Amino acid sequence: MKTAPVNRIIPMSVVDGPGSRTAVFLQGCNIACAYCHNPETQKLCCGCGLCVAECPAGALSMTEKGIRWEEELCTGCDTCIHVCPHRASPKVKEMSAEAVFREIERNRPFIRGITVSGGECSLYPEFLTELFGLARETGLTCLMDSNGMVDLSEYPELLNVCDGVMLDVKSWNPDVYRKLTGGDNQVVLQNLDLLAEKGLLAEVRIVCKPDVVDAESAIQGIAERLRGKLDFRLKLIAFRPYGVKGWMQNMEPPSQEYMEELAALARTCGFCDIIIT
Ligand code: SF4
Ligand code: SF4
Ligand code: SF4
Repeated sequence: MKTAPVNRIIPMSVVDGPGSRTAVFLQGCNIACAYCHNPETQKLCCGCGLCVAECPAGALSMTEKGIRWEEELCTGCDTCIHVCPHRASPKVKEMSAEAVFREIERNRPFIRGITVSGGECSLYPEFLTELFGLARETGLTCLMDSNGMVDLSEYPELLNVCDGVMLDVKSWNPDVYRKLTGGDNQVVLQNLDLLAEKGLLAEVRIVCKPDVVDAESAIQGIAERLRGKLDFRLKLIAFRPYGVKGWMQNMEPPSQEYMEELAALARTCGFCDIIIT
């Protein structure tokens, strides 16, 4: 039985893939994007205990095994997240795929599928394989929302039970990618090729911010690399500073005009299904 640290489960979401879906957010990420809206999902709690005394509801305590979070006492004020210096959250539950599926089943009449996001969900491939296997038995479609930093070719069993991946191509130039995320985008591009070849690219996303993200190069680069296979949605996401911590936190969103220019560029490159958010 495989487990994963679950940050939260949203019973019904219409923004995490097509139709109404249950969205499962796993804790932990393998990069640290400068524009991350949920930096508290990046790391696992190290048990430093700094948030315990700050909880106004007494919902946190130290135990031998680490931090204990009593959900029934928690008011959801998020003070613990604001005071955590480690980009973590104490409000995380280690759950088996079966336990997560039991929660999903309650929403079964109202949802078309499930989407697992993060943090970075592909850090838990065995958990995903088990969860998707259970969900597909009941006719639910299963999507991953991924930064593409884990080599998915190493997990063919996961790809066999996955209906698609919404992949972040955060930038094209490796130096820009490294500055934005701290990582190397080679694996992302390998995954881009693999998923396109297997017909599993549900969506490609680029967060756009002029002079910071090379969105133009990314659009052109993806189009050239996947020539003839651009049958997926390209989502151009305007950078927004909400929740952002670090050097991008005081930056302004791009103008609508800039976003329309990017969409026009994408059309000339051969993309047909383009949305701006
Ligand atoms: S959530 Fe953060 S502050 Fe609280 S114990 Fe874990 S690492 Fe420390
Ligand atoms: S959100 Fe955090 S600080 Fe607030 S009540 Fe819950 S555990 Fe305590
Ligand atoms: S991949 Fe997602 S969760 Fe991870 S740091 Fe980037 S924006 Fe945050």
